[in-house]
Amino acid sequence: MPSYLFKNGYSKDIQIGKIICLARTYKKHAEEMQSELPREPIVFLKPPSSVIFNGDSILIPLESSSLHHEIEFGVVIGEKCSKISKKLALDYVLGYLVGLDITARDIQAKAKKQGWPWTISKGYDTFCPISEVVLKKYILDPNNVDFSLKVNNEIKQKGNTNMMVFSIEQLIEYISCIMTLEPGDLILTGTPEGVGEIRKGDILKAELSGYCNLQVDVVKQKNKDYSK
Ligand code: MG
Repeated sequence: MPSYLFKNGYSKDIQIGKIICLARTYKKHAEEMQSELPREPIVFLKPPSSVIFNGDSILIPLESSSLHHEIEFGVVIGEKCSKISKKLALDYVLGYLVGLDITARDIQAKAKKQGWPWTISKGYDTFCPISEVVLKKYILDPNNVDFSLKVNNEIKQKGNTNMMVFSIEQLIEYISCIMTLEPGDLILTGTPEGVGEIRKGDILKAELSGYCNLQVDVVKQKNKDYSK
């Protein structure tokens, strides 16, 4: 069973639930993708089976020749909740993490053109590396957290959650009015500008500044290997 490793000497296994992702929550990223800023959050899901942890490897599937990194601030739900107002939203949060919404950009571009869902481009195994969880009490203001991503020790993305179009509380309110949130559910809040390609052999280091780190590398699938 996948587990979150909790920071500061406290560890506990919990089942990773659904992963709710936001798109175009940062203005400059919407611009670099030639997309319009939405009035309401744009939501999609990644499967829990896409999660990997510190020290694991992102696998480039045979079907894609263009994987992109997207660093994102993650919110982990601690208590079941539904239809929660933004005033109470943070009461249901367990903690925060840094994650990568790995995207097969070529597959996504084709889906966008055809009006198809993004599920395949976002849903391959290994497409959701996440750090340990930092408990809520250590991050007093989730709407003002710096984060950054280095690829091979070169800074590729930098952001702060205060640059988001929506607050963390607004996102929780919006999502919880659509679907019940449960312990272990993860909200990935979208990426700032600077997304780009990753290649076999790359080392990715992501961090929430001063709080937690994530390091993964990239390997390429060699051939179709059916396990059965
Ligand atoms: Mg994303």
